[in-house]
Amino acid sequence: MALKIQKDFNLSRFNTFGVPAKAKEFVEISGIEDLLLLRNYLKANPDLPFLILGAGSDVLFKGDFQGLVAHMGIQGLDFLEETDEFSFVKAYAGENWHSFVRRMLDSGHLGFENLAMIPGTVGAAPVQNIGAYGLEIAERIENVECFDLVTGEFKNLSTQECDFRYRDSIFKKKENNKLVIVSVTFKIPKQYEPCVGYRELASEIEANRIVHITASDVYACVTSLRKRKLPDPTRVGNAGSFFKNPIVDKEKLNQLLEQNPSMIFYPLAGGRYKLSAAWLIDNSGLKGIRLGDVGVWDKQPLVLVNYGQARGVDVFDLAQEVKYRVKNCFGVRLEPEVVILG
Ligand SMILES: Cc1cc2nc3c(=O)[nH]c(=O)nc-3n(C[C@H](O)[C@H](O)[C@H](O)COP(=O)(O)OP(=O)(O)OC[C@H]3O[C@@H](n4cnc5c(N)ncnc54)[C@H](O)[C@@H]3O)c2cc1C
Repeated sequence: MALKIQKDFNLSRFNTFGVPAKAKEFVEISGIEDLLLLRNYLKANPDLPFLILGAGSDVLFKGDFQGLVAHMGIQGLDFLEETDEFSFVKAYAGENWHSFVRRMLDSGHLGFENLAMIPGTVGAAPVQNIGAYGLEIAERIENVECFDLVTGEFKNLSTQECDFRYRDSIFKKKENNKLVIVSVTFKIPKQYEPCVGYRELASEIEANRIVHITASDVYACVTSLRKRKLPDPTRVGNAGSFFKNPIVDKEKLNQLLEQNPSMIFYPLAGGRYKLSAAWLIDNSGLKGIRLGDVGVWDKQPLVLVNYGQARGVDVFDLAQEVKYRVKNCFGVRLEPEVVILG
């Protein structure tokens, strides 16, 4: 058996921004055997840049990728042994995230609903510790199984070892780019407690006059909120939030509040504060702007969009402009959440 390497591969279908880009080489990973072959191939080509890709919903190809892109396609779901308090489900990295959430809800494994409709794969979920409407996936993970393309080892990393933070984990570090997530084991409490503290979700539940909140209610509210606010990447290219919400200390917060008393912020542990990047962008006068085929989405200014024929570099230039304007207006530096490549 040999790997089927494809040359000059068109990545348009493999990035939700829908920008044109090519990979020098591309390979589909369908099973463990492919990972072992991939390791040998990379050992024989040590200088070849490497990228493991899921659905491409959190990446921006600024240009072509001059290396090997391996697309994670390993699928499957195992229902593991339960305890009195928890169920454990192992999902393989190539599974579609939203389908997984739906399947969990349908089979009575509740507690993923807040993360419904996030595009992408199960394998990428731990990478940036996906989060939405008051829940981060780290709260539901038991361990993450990885294959180390350098050492050839399989290892199970605990949540502590993954070092999950806000939109961050060890998998986002450059030096770990040869750590391939193969599967994720989730720990699901049998006693369901809806997670509905997040302001927007709470308002949606109230607006729908829901009193006894079920997991299906949370799912319905989250999906309806997302449909209203976010562009569907199959129609308008985007990668969700382009920037992370910046975190500042008390001094900076007070300084900003003096001039902007209505600014949105959330207190964090340790005397730090999370600002709303959407509010900062909106109040820099950028919400809804359009420059050629790129723009800032009018219903959610954290989302940069490709209206049709934009190139990756056009999106990148717009992101630079947004960063510059926010820094100028508020003295706050925005950092991309999206992985910029090429
Ligand atoms: C409309 C829209 C809405 C979104 N909403 C949210 C949201 O609410 N919350 C949120 O957190 N994100 C959101 N996102 C971002 C994105 O959906 C998530 O980050 C998702 O987890 C990315 O999955 P993917 O398979 O597309 O990853 P990719 O874009 O393919 O890859 C992202 C990163 O993960 C790495 N990676 C992928 N697979 C593996 C693997 N098996 N092993 C190791 N590394 C891997 C890649 O190398 C890359 O660095 C949104 C995106 C869109 C387009």
